[in-house]
Amino acid sequence: MIENSSLWVVSDVDGTLMDHSYDLTPAKETIKFLQKLSIPVILCTSKTAAEVKVIRKQLNLTDPYIVENGAAIYGESLKKVNGEIILGEKYEILENILRSISNEINYDLQPLNNISDQQATELTGLKGYALELMRDRHWSMPFLNPPETMEEEIKISCKKFNVEIFRGNRMSHMLSINSNKGKAINALKQYSNNSNIQIIGLGDSPNDLPLLLNSDYKIVIPSPNGPNLNLLEKLKDYKYTLASYPNGFGWKSEINKLINKLVLSKQ
Ligand SMILES: [Mg+2]
Repeated sequence: MIENSSLWVVSDVDGTLMDHSYDLTPAKETIKFLQKLSIPVILCTSKTAAEVKVIRKQLNLTDPYIVENGAAIYGESLKKVNGEIILGEKYEILENILRSISNEINYDLQPLNNISDQQATELTGLKGYALELMRDRHWSMPFLNPPETMEEEIKISCKKFNVEIFRGNRMSHMLSINSNKGKAINALKQYSNNSNIQIIGLGDSPNDLPLLLNSDYKIVIPSPNGPNLNLLEKLKDYKYTLASYPNGFGWKSEINKLINKLVLSKQ
């Protein structure tokens, strides 16, 4: 139960807990070890609830999970709120906003859900049923990365519509300004009514910035080609740890080190 634990692991999934071939093996053992210590592992991802359900099952996780980049939190144990906390705006509304922004900037921003199966597979590596799970989206709007040179213009337009855009490694996400990964962590903290929670946060890309800024221990996970430099630039005024290994291997090694320091050395 998250309410009874004063240490939480909050982790991004893609590129952090697993690599882009979706391998969870390196993290599995560490998750078991955390469960033995009753430390919750809260997945915090841009993925949909439908996608995370599959991963939770593979990892035997029962803790609450944050989906769609912080737009919604679900979990059987969130009994006081009937299993869900919604921070985001409805997909249909976000779709209209994306269209309005496209008109303003004179560039057609493409929702991820509108591209063909083949294009989606090329972009995400997902196929068949996994694509259906990815498209089961309710509270956020992923879209194809526009040219980086348009970023400023898009940002200005977003302000008018009370939305924010996070550029990921493979796609961008539009969210209501009331939702992001950090806001979701705070909502979950508030729900748990425990003011002494320490958070180990792990992420790999700029959409994890709110997650890391709301974590007491900030861990950046590199890809096999190195860390996301944009994220490191945004973190330069903060204390953070760059994992020594990529993806799940970095995840495993940094968590083990921290748990040894924070928990086991004190027992
Ligand atoms: Mg990621």
